[in-house]
Amino acid sequence: MRTPLTGPVPAAGLREWQRPLREQFPIVTGHPGLAYLDSAATAQKPKAVLDAVQAYLTGCNANAGRGTYTWANRTTALIEEARERVKAFLGDPAPGRSTVWFTSGTTEGLRTVARDWLVRELSDGDEIAVPFADHEANHLPWLEARDLLAERGVRITVHPVPYQQDSHDYDLEALAALAASAGERLRFVAVTHVHHVYGADMNVHRVREAVGPDVPICLDAAQSVGHLPVDLGALDVDFAVFSGHKAMALPGTGVVWARGLRGGPFRPGGWQGTPNTAGIVSLRAALDWLDAAGTARIEEWTVGLGVRLTDGLSRLDAYEVLGCGLSLTADSTVQRRQGLVTFRHRAIGANDLGFILASHGLLVRADGLCQARAGESDASVRVSLHVHNTPEEIDRLLGVLSDLADDRP
Ligand code: PLP
Repeated sequence: MRTPLTGPVPAAGLREWQRPLREQFPIVTGHPGLAYLDSAATAQKPKAVLDAVQAYLTGCNANAGRGTYTWANRTTALIEEARERVKAFLGDPAPGRSTVWFTSGTTEGLRTVARDWLVRELSDGDEIAVPFADHEANHLPWLEARDLLAERGVRITVHPVPYQQDSHDYDLEALAALAASAGERLRFVAVTHVHHVYGADMNVHRVREAVGPDVPICLDAAQSVGHLPVDLGALDVDFAVFSGHKAMALPGTGVVWARGLRGGPFRPGGWQGTPNTAGIVSLRAALDWLDAAGTARIEEWTVGLGVRLTDGLSRLDAYEVLGCGLSLTADSTVQRRQGLVTFRHRAIGANDLGFILASHGLLVRADGLCQARAGESDASVRVSLHVHNTPEEIDRLLGVLSDLADDRP
């Protein structure tokens, strides 16, 4: 288990190591009036990633796995190298036995696990446990799998992974009890690494302990890869799914990592389709960049900025921070939450607030945040941070929020 972060709210001003990293984002330096505060939706791309794509498209663009000429062979090699890069980046405990599939993002990745693997694994009477309070992408595909099976006369039971409302974390005791009562009928569990609304770093490192050694676990790592160190060896999961575009690669890139697969090929014909070669090249460059920048440093920086924002919001009665957000305990220990803060104004609707902030050059997400079963009234504003964000941007945001604090219905 990782130790909690401690420490003060970061002082204003760039840190020595952060400034050169910020300068590597052309979209950031090219728009000095704007603060991009929506990295959980998609991350901005450092120049090294853009350069790698340009070099590939102007140097050896070809289709993979089917050529007799250098460019085609180089493209094939680049894709294989990218697979190995993904494994190394994730701390793959057994790279010789694992598989990496490239997808368009987490949504397609989780759906691929559900439709192209899970439905072939389950039999009548089996049970699965999946999140009901996380992103829809980690909820709806499992329900779809249940319905596909039902059409074939195979009935399965879908349990919600037990959840603790107060901490917005999984309830592992309840999960262990569920696993004990289901016994061998429990055939699959899906969980999320970092919650996309509450920023909670879910205690997935203990899910294996709760469900036992034989139950396949699928991890939605959309909000963790690229934001904090991810070590699949320590997490002990069987699938890990993430979006390359949230980890600084091009849009339309994603990954399904699978530890030694039973059940044969994932998707018949899947190896034959033309892959998103430029996206895969960008993913490799993005992972190189993130490793060089240091995901532990990125995590510390973004968590610190999140603390600064939560701290400021806690002084403004007009705002409700959802979940526990980032909070400083009495001894100044920061509860482990990622650099992602979601809140509401008690009188101004989330969409209106989003538009107002955009008019001040503050680019945030404002809507239902794709949370499973969210209704209109659940809309909120989400600020999600990355290494290019600065304390000044947070203070600018807090300044505008403070000016709006007195608005009453
Ligand atoms: N899972 C989580 C936790 C997410 O935050 C997101 C996107 O925000 C997704 C899944 C879906 O990712 P994508 O839109 O890249 O498919």
